[in-house]
Amino acid sequence: MSKFWSPFVESLQPYVPGEQPKEGEFIKLNSNESPFPAAPAVVAAIKAAADGALQLYPPAESEELRQVVADYYGIEAAQVFVGNGSDEALGHAFNALFRHPGKKLVFPDLSYSFYPVYAGLYEIDFATMPVTEDYRINIDDYCALDPAEVSSIIFPNPNAPTSVALGLDEIERLLKAQPNILVAVDEAYVDFGAETAIRLIKDYANLIVFQTLSKSRSLAGLRVGFAFAQADLIQALTRVKNSFNSYPIDRLAQAGAIAAFQADDYFQETRQKIIRWRDELSADLKALGFEVLPSSANFLFVTHPAHDAEALALALRERKILVRHFKTERCAPYLRITIGLKEACDALVKALNDYFSATDTK
Ligand SMILES: *Cc1c(COP(=O)(O)O)cnc(C)c1O
Repeated sequence: MSKFWSPFVESLQPYVPGEQPKEGEFIKLNSNESPFPAAPAVVAAIKAAADGALQLYPPAESEELRQVVADYYGIEAAQVFVGNGSDEALGHAFNALFRHPGKKLVFPDLSYSFYPVYAGLYEIDFATMPVTEDYRINIDDYCALDPAEVSSIIFPNPNAPTSVALGLDEIERLLKAQPNILVAVDEAYVDFGAETAIRLIKDYANLIVFQTLSKSRSLAGLRVGFAFAQADLIQALTRVKNSFNSYPIDRLAQAGAIAAFQADDYFQETRQKIIRWRDELSADLKALGFEVLPSSANFLFVTHPAHDAEALALALRERKILVRHFKTERCAPYLRITIGLKEACDALVKALNDYFSATDTK
């Protein structure tokens, strides 16, 4: 804190990302990144884009990328917004769409911990809706909200950190029930087992969907994410973007992202492997006595009736494996474990086995 700070900065509560240790030091199962490298065609496209054109600003509105993505999903380019990671697209949406003085934004009590951070930054009043005892989002709770008091709703699908998905029929039921509330669906993990709501945007003016290349397309380091909605909502995001940074997506990112959508075989192959290893790890952890929530994501949310989650996280850390533990009340009994390569999943099971046999014989 210094006298030169704008006064509001002191009250900010910034997001705390998962630890990024030095390369090779740990098996990293703590940030939900892909264990696979980017597709070879993506790396080649980035190298080609670096050759000769970096002295020029990139296309400000990412027109070619937006067209490729629109074609991929069968929508219009005017229905696609590109952000520097979906975090940026989300941040612009909080500012441009969720900020209605006198009305609240509502999200689940267990959801992405960046939402309250953006709400704090943009001074948006919010309320949280508890997930059920079995950690599901109950759509009826949201259908019952009063549009005189609530401007917007946001939740991840599949939810994070719970990993549990909602069916598209449930989301459509909410869109129908609340035509005067904007519904934002954050689909960071959708490719691992849920159904995207993108095909509903043509029918629902109150829907906005977010996706990212960071998880299922192995490009967390490139920083590309999207918002999908009817064109009038996308225009609000574009107005905010062009009032802040006209060029958030650099030339390398635009070229890499285009190649990522063209490298569909690699995408299908890697995401299917992660789904298979997730289901195998889930079975292995259940055999060790863990309760595992039904996951549609690239991570598991697990608790053990006989072991404290924070102690488990520390024991794994000592064995050079990082998992994520959140200290908030409803998360505290749980660990969030990213699905790694098969060897990493097996190393996790072995480390847990070692720890359990060491503590049980004491
Ligand atoms: C990872 C994640 C994001 C952000 O992804 P980026 O595109 O890397 O900014 C957004 N929402 C949820 C729920 C996530 O887990």
